[in-house]
Amino acid sequence: MTRNEKPHQTRHVFGPVPSRRLGISLGVDIIPFKTCSLDCLYCECGRTTLRTIERQSFFPPRRVLDELQAILPGIPHLDFITFSGSGEPTLNSDLGWLIGGIRGLSTAPIAVLTNGTLLSRADVRRELLGADVVLPSLDAALAAGFARINQPAPGLDVGCIVAGMEAFRREYAGKIWLEVFILKGVNDGEADIAALGAALCRIRPDKVQLNTLDRPPAYPGVESADFALLESVRRNWSGLPVEIIKRAGRREEIPAFSSNLENSLLNTIRRRPLTIDDLRTLTGKSEEDLRRYLEVLETEKKVKPVIEGGRIFYTSV
Ligand code: SF4
Repeated sequence: MTRNEKPHQTRHVFGPVPSRRLGISLGVDIIPFKTCSLDCLYCECGRTTLRTIERQSFFPPRRVLDELQAILPGIPHLDFITFSGSGEPTLNSDLGWLIGGIRGLSTAPIAVLTNGTLLSRADVRRELLGADVVLPSLDAALAAGFARINQPAPGLDVGCIVAGMEAFRREYAGKIWLEVFILKGVNDGEADIAALGAALCRIRPDKVQLNTLDRPPAYPGVESADFALLESVRRNWSGLPVEIIKRAGRREEIPAFSSNLENSLLNTIRRRPLTIDDLRTLTGKSEEDLRRYLEVLETEKKVKPVIEGGRIFYTSV
């Protein structure tokens, strides 16, 4: 970060942070810690403390707009203002009001990360129409798999959730980037993948983003999927716009790893901070390839992403 671009942390607003999926993103958290309709095995925020499907107004929503109003003038560029955090944002019944309020404060696009469970409700779908990008998640389309990986609140039915996502696709003109989390031995069976692929074909998201565990999960014994498994899921869903967003943590995970390329990236970044686009021009490699090298170097604390002048640069540590 430059001196002008310090991250902020107030009660509800945090960042901006460099985000893999959303670029420079300012987070808005409107849910009490771990209040969620699911209790996913892989949740990186820990176990759900209040599992509910009841929407409510958790606090005076004006507070969020006041915080944003105070922070936004000091931030020169944002790719997104993002509803995210450690709970399910659609449980907040002020969501629609807040999206409208943020529109009045900033021209930055608005994104909503959601587990998608409440998309079966017409009021939730209507409120989300005001966002530019909605990023739902869906990890299973069969009831047994849904129960295993997501441990839903009583009353949730995965068939209704998928139907809600299909309805939202018909009603919503913005982008839908749907994330699928794959866990080894939990939702990667042949029938699970086939049913999920069929559901995704009906939902027609603009992107399907395949991910897996990257940080310690809420429940022990949960195993992440390796790149080979994710590639095989991608091959199974060949008619869908699938991208793999799993982070590479080890060199062995990089196909045809080249130490020459790694050294050249490190030496170039040591001389001056560079963006992914700069590195693509310099090396001729794809963004996906470069990200894997950078993620390994980040894990080893040799490089880090920083926000400067409204762009994300990789700099040496
Ligand atoms: S939906 Fe998100 S916040 Fe809720 S338990 Fe799952 S990963 Fe955690």
